[in-house]
Amino acid sequence: MRADPAFAAPGRFWKGNIHTHSDATDGRRSPEEVCAAYREGGYDFLAITDHFLAKYGFPIVDTRGFRTDAFTTILGAEVHAPATALGETWHILAVGLPLDFPHTAEGETGPELAQRCLDAGAFVAIPHPGWYALTAADAATIPGAHAVEIYNHTSAVRTDRGDGTYLVDQLLAEGRRINVIAADDAHFESPDWFGGWLMAKARANEPEALLAALKAGHFYATQGPAIESLAWGEERVEITCSPASAVMVLGLGSCAKQSVAPGQTRVTLGLEPRLRAGGFARVVVIDSAGRKAWSNPYWF
Ligand SMILES: [Zn+2]
Repeated sequence: MRADPAFAAPGRFWKGNIHTHSDATDGRRSPEEVCAAYREGGYDFLAITDHFLAKYGFPIVDTRGFRTDAFTTILGAEVHAPATALGETWHILAVGLPLDFPHTAEGETGPELAQRCLDAGAFVAIPHPGWYALTAADAATIPGAHAVEIYNHTSAVRTDRGDGTYLVDQLLAEGRRINVIAADDAHFESPDWFGGWLMAKARANEPEALLAALKAGHFYATQGPAIESLAWGEERVEITCSPASAVMVLGLGSCAKQSVAPGQTRVTLGLEPRLRAGGFARVVVIDSAGRKAWSNPYWF
């Protein structure tokens, strides 16, 4: 058996939300209040990712002053430019941007802007694809994106469109190696915080170490359940987790294997040849309240 890369990585897991807004753009709370909410809510790290738009003065919110010994921040933004297949403005999450990241240029497209974020060293994710019916063809125009939001809490609360599973599975089926994140996208309007987060494994709760962990895929996403260990073998996958009502491994198309039973914490699932044949599999843990945790895809 081989530990999943996120679990084999050195260090420990740190809890963080990497998609949030403040009153620097359309959020209701100041950056200081937002940082305090997450810090007091038990988070280890936070990225405020306000809308990088001319009407707000292209903010990269400087949260460095709100770091403490036990809480850190990563600088970032949600960047925007034309246009998705449906003609809507792109939303692109960029975590790990410099404070002097150049403003969006006249005529710059979403894919060009995403590439510029990547070139600047950011972890780039495709947020809330379900919220605006982003297509796999759209996602193909940002080939460098590290992850898709498999869950966006605000989109779930406000529009019932928080689920990005469809896009994740279509991209994986195309052979694209892309990871999955969960995030709040909190604006502090309706209760839209503490609904989805990452557990990132790194040696230290420091921005550079966390950013490296994000880029390396050393994390899992969750709404509450904990994945404590994950190991892959030739014929099976072994999972230990917080008490779960269902634990499943999902492969290409409809390929899946699952254990459904109340309160299970140690699960072994067979990896039959058909499931391995797609080249990848990912694990989902669901608790009795219906809350989920998602591993990144593992490539055989
Ligand atoms: Zn957002």
